[in-house]
Amino acid sequence: MNTRSEPASQTDCFLPPGLEARCDFLAALVEALEEQVSVIDDRGTIIYVNEAWRRFGEENGVPPNTQWLGQNYLNACRQAKGDPIAQRVANGIERMLSATPGSSVTVEYPCHSLQAQRWFLMRATRMTTAQGCFVVVVHENITRRKQAEQRAAALSMRDPLTGLANRRAFNHDLSRIWLRCRRSHSPLSLLSIDIDYFKRLNDTFGHPAGDACLKSIARILKRHARRPEDLAARIGGEEFALLLPDTDIHIAHHIAEHLRQAIALHSGAEGVPHATITASIGLVGTIPTHTMQPDMLVAAADVALYSAKCGGRDRVMLGVA
Ligand code: GH3
Ligand code: MG
Ligand code: MG
Repeated sequence: MNTRSEPASQTDCFLPPGLEARCDFLAALVEALEEQVSVIDDRGTIIYVNEAWRRFGEENGVPPNTQWLGQNYLNACRQAKGDPIAQRVANGIERMLSATPGSSVTVEYPCHSLQAQRWFLMRATRMTTAQGCFVVVVHENITRRKQAEQRAAALSMRDPLTGLANRRAFNHDLSRIWLRCRRSHSPLSLLSIDIDYFKRLNDTFGHPAGDACLKSIARILKRHARRPEDLAARIGGEEFALLLPDTDIHIAHHIAEHLRQAIALHSGAEGVPHATITASIGLVGTIPTHTMQPDMLVAAADVALYSAKCGGRDRVMLGVA
């Protein structure tokens, strides 16, 4: 029985007997791969491409019967001057050719066609034989993995109950928008919104009714995020935020007051048609500078929200950023 302590076997498969038959077998194996494989010599000249490589070229505008062998892969990368990925590949291959055997270069890159978005992984591996040093270049289609990663990343930024941006997405966008407003000296306003006595509503009507209420408040909030860069988010529990770039405090105050009234006037969610739902809102605005940080804006909005709660709830309080 094979145990971990035994030395590895010399061959992992039964190859056909005879050198020629083995060569045929291995050549057929590389030709059958879905990955596009080429081999280049130590000067960058292509000395082998497999069927998948030729097919990919033809499917992407390379004329049929193109003579791949003899072309210089490294020079082609170098000549793609405006393409940083091609330069990375060329640098990597050159480093690899002068480095230790077994080293490799891996680059993920987008290669979108008119019909579809596609991503590829290019892996270049050094191969040493009795004939000298070569580089095996393999391109693998990783579109499915990339799309799954993109879906997972998008989900990680959404609040599943309301579909709004979650706290993570809010923090991410706040940093980006903060820098943008700082560069353009534009005003930035933030509303910190908390539903009043929400625990009581849950206790009276049940948690599902509370959930329905959160969804309907999210819909109202979305209606108040009218510009493309306005950001409505659920920060947690029954706390929401509305970030308004390029909006000065006077306009933001008008929006906050309108939002407060819309929440108070809305006829209640399914399950709580007769309940009065109100919100307290803390509002701050600033023109971002180098001496301030985005979290100072959030903290100031929370202080203003706290005053709105202490002042009796169902009101907008202006804070100082
Ligand atoms: P205040 O006016 O001071 O804000 O009082 P409040 O009751 O709204 O605040 P408190 O922080 O005491 O309670 C918040 C409640 O929100 C408690 C929690 O059960 C409820 N809550 C948080 N997340 C959810 C949710 O996803 N669904 C539902 N239905 N309730 C939630
Ligand atoms: Mg509350
Ligand atoms: Mg709260």
